[in-house]
Amino acid sequence: MKKKHFNIPVFIPEAACPFQCIYCNQRKISGKLHLPDALEINNIIEDHLTTLPKKDATVELAYFGGNFTGFTSDVQKNFLNLVNPYIRSGEISGIRLSTRPDYINPEILDLLKDHHVKTIELGAQSMDDEVLKKSKRGHTARDTEMAANMIIERGFNLGLQMMIGLPGDTFEKSLYTAQRITELGATETRIYPTLVIRDTILEKHYLEGRFEPLTLEDAVSWSAELLQVFEEAKVKVLKLGLHPSEGLLSGSDLVAGPWHQSFRELVLTRIWRQKLQLLLGLDSETVCIEVPSKEINYAVGYGGSNKKMLLQKFISVEFNTNAQLNQRSFNII
Ligand code: SF4
Repeated sequence: MKKKHFNIPVFIPEAACPFQCIYCNQRKISGKLHLPDALEINNIIEDHLTTLPKKDATVELAYFGGNFTGFTSDVQKNFLNLVNPYIRSGEISGIRLSTRPDYINPEILDLLKDHHVKTIELGAQSMDDEVLKKSKRGHTARDTEMAANMIIERGFNLGLQMMIGLPGDTFEKSLYTAQRITELGATETRIYPTLVIRDTILEKHYLEGRFEPLTLEDAVSWSAELLQVFEEAKVKVLKLGLHPSEGLLSGSDLVAGPWHQSFRELVLTRIWRQKLQLLLGLDSETVCIEVPSKEINYAVGYGGSNKKMLLQKFISVEFNTNAQLNQRSFNII
């Protein structure tokens, strides 16, 4: 039986980050205003371990947010060493962290290797230099390529995160970024539609009419295409949309942009919609569609939207599950 994977997330706000990417107010996104200390991190770990299954599970400690390898090596070691007792007891199998592509070098990777880091996620964001420049990322696509190669050569799992709808971005550039992510050997990715967060440079540009975020419709349709590129290349998409921190859910920090609580569901609904649209050519008054059990909600669609689309053509539309079907195959019966 395949073990289920769990992350224990610890957010490290941008204290270590000397950059100010145009869209980022990391402290607001993580909902945290200070660096967690040893006691807090231990409490986070203990709290999670009490709720996670002990059997058939692998657990990683995940240092998310900010720029982990931007800390001094002593600070990095302090954070990493906090996990040692749990690694010794077998309760945690390793550590994952996210950082910037231009903060990877052989010395940093040696340190991470010696401290049980298994997975490194880089914020690639785009593989187009113009988009990176306009977003004030402070690194190039070449930096991401070099970092990705070093990470893979040293035997880490590589994650490459991307954003869509950054200043200067187009669907073609996003597609190119997704393709490069697969070519660079990432085993996982995250797709983040660009949002306008309060107290960022992007907010200023938005209010001045210099930046227009993607519509929800565009963000969903771009993501549907990108998701299929990643699925085909067997790159796991860990996240579609922003971490729903309390600040964002209350709406007070979100100024504009394609945020939706069920963004992933909307994207999966869109993929099914494209497939089911082919049925509109059927010469019939009724249709019964069998789909894999795991896909039924997405096939019917968010809010029943795919079923409603079919009901514009058919008098009756029925969806059933069929355990023999896999992925997004379907039968008409
Ligand atoms: S590098 Fe990351 S944490 Fe730093 S400003 Fe950019 S997005 Fe924010």
